[in-house]
Amino acid sequence: MSQGSFGDAELWGDQSPAPRLDVARLTEDLTEPQRLAVTHPGGPLLVVAGAGSGKTRVLTRRVAYLLEVDRVAPWEILAITFTNKAADEMKRRVAELVGSRSERMWVQTFHSACLRLLRSNAGVLGFDPGFTIYDSDESRSEVERIMKDFGIDVKATKPRSVLAAISGAKNAMLSPTAYMEIDADPKRDMIAKVYQRYEDCLRRANAMDFDDLLLNAVRMLQKDPAVRERYQEQFRHVLVDEFQDTNGVQNQLVEILSAHHGNICVVGDADQSIYRFRAADVRNILQFSQRYPDATTILLEENFRSTQTILDAANAVIDRNESRIPKNLFTQRGRGDKIRRYAGEDEYDEGRWVISELRRFRNDYNIEWREMAVFYRTNAQSRVLEEQCIRAGVPYRVISGLRFYDRKEVKDALAYARLLVNPRDDMAARRVINEPRRGIGAVALTKLQSYATDHNISFAESVNHGDEAGLSGKAASGVRQFAGLLDELRALSNDLTPGIMIETIARESGILNELLADGSDEARGRIENLGELASAAAEYETMMEFLERLALTADSDQLDASAGAVSLMTMHVAKGLEFPAVVITGLEEGMFPHQRALVDQAELEEERRLCYVGITRAMRHLSLTHAWTRTMWGRRMDAITSRFWNEVPEELCEECSVVKPMRRSSFSDVDFGFEGRASDFASGRAFGTGEVQEARTSGADKLGLKVGDRVTHDRFGPGVIIGLSGEGERTRAFVRFDQGQAEKQLVLSISPLQRL
Ligand code: ATP
Ligand code: MG
Repeated sequence: MSQGSFGDAELWGDQSPAPRLDVARLTEDLTEPQRLAVTHPGGPLLVVAGAGSGKTRVLTRRVAYLLEVDRVAPWEILAITFTNKAADEMKRRVAELVGSRSERMWVQTFHSACLRLLRSNAGVLGFDPGFTIYDSDESRSEVERIMKDFGIDVKATKPRSVLAAISGAKNAMLSPTAYMEIDADPKRDMIAKVYQRYEDCLRRANAMDFDDLLLNAVRMLQKDPAVRERYQEQFRHVLVDEFQDTNGVQNQLVEILSAHHGNICVVGDADQSIYRFRAADVRNILQFSQRYPDATTILLEENFRSTQTILDAANAVIDRNESRIPKNLFTQRGRGDKIRRYAGEDEYDEGRWVISELRRFRNDYNIEWREMAVFYRTNAQSRVLEEQCIRAGVPYRVISGLRFYDRKEVKDALAYARLLVNPRDDMAARRVINEPRRGIGAVALTKLQSYATDHNISFAESVNHGDEAGLSGKAASGVRQFAGLLDELRALSNDLTPGIMIETIARESGILNELLADGSDEARGRIENLGELASAAAEYETMMEFLERLALTADSDQLDASAGAVSLMTMHVAKGLEFPAVVITGLEEGMFPHQRALVDQAELEEERRLCYVGITRAMRHLSLTHAWTRTMWGRRMDAITSRFWNEVPEELCEECSVVKPMRRSSFSDVDFGFEGRASDFASGRAFGTGEVQEARTSGADKLGLKVGDRVTHDRFGPGVIIGLSGEGERTRAFVRFDQGQAEKQLVLSISPLQRL
């Protein structure tokens, strides 16, 4: 990324070849605490600090210092960063500094470091050095095959959920036996049995899955004292960035490798711990000083990235988290501009304002496209933003994550849609004939293909002739099922609109059920993408129009990136990066914070940390947006402003919203009557407090409510009004309820309050 993770351009620059640096040059532009960290003589070192305070800079600079001043050999340094991109960036910068010597340095992600350790020592655990790594799809099909072997009903218990349990056990370093012994439970016994067989199969295939890379590296080091000691001896310095997001296995690896020299340097910020769902354990950083009683702890409090206004906003938000050690970031960069906020009528209006904001950054402040970023909470939100960028001719790229229409589930659903429109679409048929799995293997596909060739028909049409093509058993019934499904969908497509049709495809094909049964975060993201696709299709009269539009969009998409492009990404991806101008979108309850967080305090705090990460990426300009309504699964849903929006003090903000006339007269226009599982899910992740009820009209004005009034609510009990906003149907009250001291934002027309 242009505006990179380490942003240290004035020192590292792009000039090459780099001169040899002396101590003064390495430390002259550091603050005193930063200098202490960089020149730390050895022993455990913990650098804890808020965002943008120079943690990554300290880590990178320390690596240079060790090489240049302490004369540590490159291969004696193990520097672990969070992503491949961050690792590459660090390697590049150190290479500029010390030249080709740096090639021998271990700058890696956890997974790549473990792979390297395992490749050289695979024999310790009985693997051949050329072992294969299974990706998650391969792991899942292996688990599925094993389950079937055991006669387990893979419809009732989804292979993906079993794999998730196995992955959890691996991250907790539990063997199948240890996992089984946790408690007596038939389901656990079943999973343990599959886990054991899965391990046997991996071994037989000389394969490891992704979790195994970490786990087996640790096991290998534990098992062979000679190998362990060799690496402990080799790594005179172990350094880890973003330490707050390490999990138990990663922590153990670091402990083992640094045990001999004791030179372990970790940097992190507990307020930026956002990977709990991947077993990250923030206790690793919180308990570092207990684990290493002789550790030196250095605090960095000066922020070099953002304006004071941006920092004040970040501080105000993160301060709401109860389980944290308070700290305050300050900067000498001055107050800077106010944070601009815009509430759009819907996601398109929001998107249009985002574009105008990007243009303003460019025109008024001379900020390059590549110096701007737009963040969102879920990948699906990129679709509307991408479309707006294309329409407005603003170059963009979606960072980490495929472009919306390139995503697998989206392509699969579209392949079905294409087959409805053109029954001879071979590419589409090949894509989904066995998607989701219907037991149609390579042999069956070959037979269908020959039949098609012999009879001069397309492959797609051959699915109606499975029996004549010589298929039997599972393949024959699978092909019959596929052909039947297409007939059924075609019949429905005469009557249904494109939006509903996409939803029907997702449901009837089995794609949706598979994802629902999976239940992982990834699957949820995929379901959201399908919902988003349905929303996109809902704007068209016919499916053909929609498909044509897509084909054209993809073509015009090749924008010239030489002038740079605006980065679109989720806030998870944004960790560690910085940009002069940032827009955070979709600040709605149920969107950000995410639906799950509305009922779970720990999840909510994690979401708030994510918000803190998002805000603190901005250097000079920050804008926040939300939409009053958003289309989910082709249906318009009303949204409630995110609590995070309200947690940013008003005096830091400039409101840019234009009050527009209401499009609808009342909530009763909204169709809340969902049908089927897909829609249940959609409504489950919809907006608001989850208490959508029949429309009732009772605005604050009508009730004569004012700030300070004591009120009571059917579910939350008594409380006091601490704020009121909006008008008519959109009247909102902020209430601090007595119970649990909870503060809630309520839309009075759907959640009425009684004055006490
Ligand atoms: P994050 O928590 O987001 O990972 P960080 O603590 O790792 O942030 P860096 O990315 O290292 O922070 O630094 C933030 C910005 O501040 C960078 O642009 C960096 O070059 C700059 N910076 C850090 N220290 C100094 C300093 N002493 N003088 C000038 N600029 C500095
Ligand atoms: Mg950093």
